[in-house]
Amino acid sequence: MMRIGLGRDLHRLIEGRRFLLGGVEIPFEKGELGHSDGDVLAHAIIDALLGAAGLGDIGEFYPSTENSWKDADSLELLKHAWLQVKNRGWRLVNLDCVVVCDKPKILPHRDSICRSLAETMEVDPGLVFVKGKTNEGLGPLGTGEAVEAMAVCLLEKT
Ligand code: MG
Repeated sequence: MMRIGLGRDLHRLIEGRRFLLGGVEIPFEKGELGHSDGDVLAHAIIDALLGAAGLGDIGEFYPSTENSWKDADSLELLKHAWLQVKNRGWRLVNLDCVVVCDKPKILPHRDSICRSLAETMEVDPGLVFVKGKTNEGLGPLGTGEAVEAMAVCLLEKT
């Protein structure tokens, strides 16, 4: 059996926060606002994985009203969510992601982001791909006020 999952997240960018994508810190004058560390890509991936397995969503698993998740390391959340999915017999066929923002540029960091995600999930790096897209200067994504991430995953159970 195969199942597909889709995740999407958006975070505001503000000064005094780190800009994290898949656990990789990217040098930029602003970072993601969030209850956790704000890693927008990790959050989109968690939703894709949980959705594919029919387990719920990130808001149910890690409520922002709970103090235990304040400033949480999103890679730890991803590890935990993926473990729930794996424990139900699912394995990853592939994970494909898009990060949308005009600034900062994603391409120079793409390989380290893919590696970091693959290491966190303990999967072959070839199963994970991340690409950056600009928003053509339009709206908050185009002016450095926000960053959006989308993730699609395919899971297989034999
Ligand atoms: Mg989020």
